Amino acid sequence: MRVAVLSLSSCLGCQYVLLSMEEYFYTFIGENAIPYAPFLLDQKELPEVDLLLLEGTVRHGDDFRRLREARQKADKLVALGTCACFGGVPGLADLLTEERMMRMRYGEGAVIEGAPQGVKRLLPVDAYVSVDAFLPGCPPPEDLLQGFLKLALSGTLPSRLGATVCSECGVTSPPRTREGLRRLLSSVPEAGKCLLEQGFICMGPLTRDGCNALCPSSYGVPCGGCRGPCDEALLPPFQDLKGETLRRMERATGERKEVLEREIKDTAHSFFRYCLAEPLLRRRRPGGTATLLRRLGGEGRR
Ligand code: SF4
Ligand code: SF4
Repeated sequence: MRVAVLSLSSCLGCQYVLLSMEEYFYTFIGENAIPYAPFLLDQKELPEVDLLLLEGTVRHGDDFRRLREARQKADKLVALGTCACFGGVPGLADLLTEERMMRMRYGEGAVIEGAPQGVKRLLPVDAYVSVDAFLPGCPPPEDLLQGFLKLALSGTLPSRLGATVCSECGVTSPPRTREGLRRLLSSVPEAGKCLLEQGFICMGPLTRDGCNALCPSSYGVPCGGCRGPCDEALLPPFQDLKGETLRRMERATGERKEVLEREIKDTAHSFFRYCLAEPLLRRRRPGGTATLLRRLGGEGRR
């Protein structure tokens, strides 16, 4: 198969996972033609390919041009990583103006000659072109990417309804302490016990599975949602990560939702760190549910 890897605006972390697969990476490049992959080859033009792994998001016009070209030249296009699938961390930029971001990054008064004009609102790549499969993760876990590639290269694009991080989290329920909202900076969770039930903001119940619940069950850190919202969270009547999480926390902590909400100052980073750009959560995507169902079915929309 002819396989290419293309990055739009991104940190390059998703394609780095390919390199870190070590043994499988050599099998992957040994068994397939890789005519375009900027981290491997000095090849300027994207040729026609069977499968294209696309990471990153559209931040400016050049990204859009490359995305459109990618769609024209790839038989199957895969959105690789949470940025491509849900907008990812770059979606938080929608909270700031372009000028403010430039000042924060380069300092007061800095003039950036020829800086590209940014998009007004960040969106996942399937808001612009049809996508044949989605593999979220920030970055996608190595074993998940490997399994995905093995199937995709044998001609099947994997798609399935996802379960949640909680379904693979090995923690147990603690007795309810009802201590209210707790933060890692000022409070140490009890190991092996559910973090949400201890009063921490854990996005596991609304985040898609696939990471083996690494953060809560291996490191005792609440899930931040880096695999993106689970399917249920994207479908009506939910589509409300904040409200759903607060409802669960209210039950766990005994603290009223309104009180918790007042204490959680940074709503965007707490609940939407990886998906602020996802239009299904803003209930703005035309044909919302139908679009999601097409996504889950992996059906081509060209
Ligand atoms: S710690 Fe988080 S991911 Fe694990 S069961 Fe509790 S809410 Fe779910
Ligand atoms: S537990 Fe949550 S934040 Fe941690 S790797 Fe899994 S999805 Fe990402």
